[in-house]
Amino acid sequence: MSLAAITPPSSSGTATPTSTSALTTAGISASLQKTAPSLFAQHGTSTPLADLDASLLHATHTTAPRAVPGHDSAETAAQRTCTDHMVTARWTLAHGWEAPELKPYGALSIMPNASVLHYATECFEGMKLYRGHDGRLRLFRPDRNAARMLTSAARIALPAFPPVELIKLVTTLCATDGPKWLPKTQPGHFLYIRPTMIATDAALGVQRPKEALLYVILACFPDMTVSASSRETGKSGLRLLASNDDTVRAWPGGFGFAKVGANYGPSLVAQGEARARGYDQILWLFGDDCGVTEAGASNFFVAWETRDGKMQLVTAPLDAGIILDGVTRRSVLELARTRLTGSVEGLAPLEVVERRFTMAEVVLAADEGRLVEAFAAGTAFFIAPVAEIHFRGKDLTVPMGADGKSGPYAKCLKGWLQGIMYGRETHEWGVVVDEMGV
Ligand SMILES: *Cc1c(COP(=O)(O)O)cnc(C)c1O
Repeated sequence: MSLAAITPPSSSGTATPTSTSALTTAGISASLQKTAPSLFAQHGTSTPLADLDASLLHATHTTAPRAVPGHDSAETAAQRTCTDHMVTARWTLAHGWEAPELKPYGALSIMPNASVLHYATECFEGMKLYRGHDGRLRLFRPDRNAARMLTSAARIALPAFPPVELIKLVTTLCATDGPKWLPKTQPGHFLYIRPTMIATDAALGVQRPKEALLYVILACFPDMTVSASSRETGKSGLRLLASNDDTVRAWPGGFGFAKVGANYGPSLVAQGEARARGYDQILWLFGDDCGVTEAGASNFFVAWETRDGKMQLVTAPLDAGIILDGVTRRSVLELARTRLTGSVEGLAPLEVVERRFTMAEVVLAADEGRLVEAFAAGTAFFIAPVAEIHFRGKDLTVPMGADGKSGPYAKCLKGWLQGIMYGRETHEWGVVVDEMGV
């Protein structure tokens, strides 16, 4: 793997350790080389630190297995229940990664002065384990999540690891708990996978962590494709509240491209306020010209017709480093580019565009009758059609397709993605997990 593949986007040019403008970039590459030697083997770097190695996993199975809640139960809706086991791996600056453990799900023990509790040295991933209609378990593009976890960890001075080892640990946990918690008799359901890394050093100094814990848990999650506002009003589609001048999710040179806990806590006030006003998510804008970035913790897409009659699918670009490189976003872009550029399923061919765009453009398209649809895309909410955007005192109605439930492009893309996730279409993105004990 090249360093470029794991270095976050930067507009500051080539990093050298002596350049003051590239402190973060230089710090990240130094830490990657030190903490994940195998990623840099081709450079001849040698270090005494041990790499994360899934083959050393030691398993202790639970003696107190728990009951599995129903998919539609209040327990599942509360998102509190995790499966019987978890995987953990400890890292120290002195030794590197210790042998990972698979063990009963349970409380962690960390000191009150642990780095993560004070300095937000935490990053995570969100993936799903799908029970296919063919009875098999699958992950969706786990390589993308593992690579992104490495980017996120490096951004906040947490130790690096070979992404393939994280995929193996996730797979082992899924293979262990999948058969019971996602039974073959109930295809079409999923568990939520949460890989997490925290700095656990018991020291209050504001400094790079010397100890960390990587862990993976599996949680029972409800189907979140029906939005909260839809449940209240009976109307389909997300209602988005565009962010105001007094709040910003991410900024150039910051960490909006990383899935770090520090991005989410501070967004909860605005999110809570949006919910209280009957909206589902914040549509995060950036800049004086109200550039559109993301919707809640999902990427955001709009389909419109240009003034010269071209159909376009537009989403914000990654280069400014202020939005997350979503796996769903990438997949939507790749499917649209390979399957929707010609006429398919009665849809006009799409031009796929990643570029900065503003609310003024969305409003103009709506006023001129050129707005076709908008949708949010992410693992948790999947492909969620948008019905309304509240922007500066006005409600903008977004078309929701002929059936009033989804725009035509979102429906088509969602169908293809579901086909891959649940095994109706054989595709390299759907990675089968071989189950244990079956
Ligand atoms: C997780 C997340 C997304 C979606 O990413 P996926 O990989 O598609 O799940 C988008 N934006 C933010 C801010 C996120 O946290």
